[in-house]
Amino acid sequence: MITIKKKKTAPGLKHAVEQLCHVDLSVCFQCKKCSSGCAVAKLTKIRPSEVMRRLHLDAGRELLESDLIWTCASCGTCSARCPMGIDVAAVMDALRQLAMARGASTPAGNVPLFNRAFLKTVATFGRTYELGMVAAYKLGTGKLMADTEKFPTMLKKGKLALLPPRGADRKTVGRIFKHAQQHQGPQA
Ligand code: SF4
Ligand code: SF4
Repeated sequence: MITIKKKKTAPGLKHAVEQLCHVDLSVCFQCKKCSSGCAVAKLTKIRPSEVMRRLHLDAGRELLESDLIWTCASCGTCSARCPMGIDVAAVMDALRQLAMARGASTPAGNVPLFNRAFLKTVATFGRTYELGMVAAYKLGTGKLMADTEKFPTMLKKGKLALLPPRGADRKTVGRIFKHAQQHQGPQA
């Protein structure tokens, strides 16, 4: 069941999302194919098709604070399954951007912190550097020793490199980040 609060604190969300990801949300006819293929839908309170419906109904901040947008793994299955060609994964991405821009509270957990740690290492080293990302994430959580029991085995098996990756085109990646920062799109 979909409940939309009457008092909206973030008007124009549908329009802002459409502008950010260049999709026409009005063509969604609620077939739910995106939801039935979603890898994380069983873990979240709402599903991708509900997100689309809430956007149609001009939902506000409650949508920016929903758990799905931060649990979404950006796998793209929803986009591939949509018969109307809507890039649903891009909609999730746009909602994350808007949630951060508007200071919406995030669900329990450290997904936004993990995202920031990931992007920081890619921006710094030109590609992901797992050990640096884990270190930044751990510092952010303040729980340095949590979930570290598999760490020695992963190091031993070469699943985690001690040194940052070499050979990455840092200049190009740096330009991409700069371009993304300069073209963040509408925030309202
Ligand atoms: S698959 Fe496409 S048309 Fe169907 S509910 Fe999802 S977004 Fe709407
Ligand atoms: S991109 Fe996100 S919303 Fe879409 S199917 Fe994957 S996990 Fe679900």
